[in-house]
Amino acid sequence: VTEIRLHNTKTRRKEVFEPIDAGNVRMYVCGPTVYDRAHIGNARPVVVFDVLFRLLRHVYGAEHVTYVRNFTDVDDKINARAAEEGRSIGEITGETAQWYLDDMAAIGALEPTFMPRATEFVPQMVAMIEGLIGKGYAYFEDSPRLHNQPPAKYVVMDESKLPKHALFEVHEYKPYGRLSGRSLDEMIAGARVEVADNKRDPMDFVLWKPSREDEPGWPGPEVGGVSAGRGRPGWHIECSAMAHSLLGEKFDIHGGGLDLLFPHHENELAQSCACFGEDSFAQYWMHNEMLQVEGKKMSKSLDNFFTVRDLLEQGVPGEVIRFVMLSTHYRKPMDWTARKVAEAEATLRK
Ligand SMILES: [Zn+2]
Repeated sequence: VTEIRLHNTKTRRKEVFEPIDAGNVRMYVCGPTVYDRAHIGNARPVVVFDVLFRLLRHVYGAEHVTYVRNFTDVDDKINARAAEEGRSIGEITGETAQWYLDDMAAIGALEPTFMPRATEFVPQMVAMIEGLIGKGYAYFEDSPRLHNQPPAKYVVMDESKLPKHALFEVHEYKPYGRLSGRSLDEMIAGARVEVADNKRDPMDFVLWKPSREDEPGWPGPEVGGVSAGRGRPGWHIECSAMAHSLLGEKFDIHGGGLDLLFPHHENELAQSCACFGEDSFAQYWMHNEMLQVEGKKMSKSLDNFFTVRDLLEQGVPGEVIRFVMLSTHYRKPMDWTARKVAEAEATLRK
């Protein structure tokens, strides 16, 4: 068997890849939040992990590789987009997910084995949150929306019935920070953490939040007679629950863009290991570097922002987009330029 060596973010070294089970090599990559077209930066991890998927299939056999890439289809940005356009959330997410698949197929990416939607795995997320609270790694807090609001006189307030946030208590999980290699103090100093009055510590992150009537919601976690009530999951728990459901407690590779390393991947790792044991979750972590356009960070205000679909519609063939992507090593920052596009097209024509 060909030896594959991968740079593992967790150990900061290049390691020989040894799958847990060569008969089922398992990879999870964080997918898009579906409310808009994928921009050119979103395409980079798709191409990078498509190449890895193809390599694994080549080495271990196509039927021996399982690749999961999720769709995040519950998110406040989606709710906002649906409200703005006066359309249902399902319409927006369904349409955007299909755009994504069409655009990624146009740049030659195979479809992953499974493409779970977060909303299909809410009971699994709830079960994980209940497990974390039961083990003392997470806690319930009343919604801050309800703070400073004295209960109406005629309502008999029962504390256990108030809608609640569930939060992961970072200080309870000692190895926190090992993936991104930061100490807790550095993280607090460096990160713009949301300070909410319902957190025991600014680093604690949301596992579950209450939903208003007009927001999507599901029955929440319930532990020891206390129930969170109708709400929706936080983003990080989605990936942990979907990876667990489709790949098991322990799997081989977790991938994504470097921008997801902290806090998203750090939080995924913390909550999964806290729930299922220290040795669980991904064994190899891989991160692609970011993409700039003409030497500048892509931004709508700089007029250097475009989607994969924009390029295709301008007549840039999908294989040219892919070729430009692959001309820079995935762990190096990449600069997308019009010159590179022209050169890639000329090379491919030749
Ligand atoms: Zn994720």
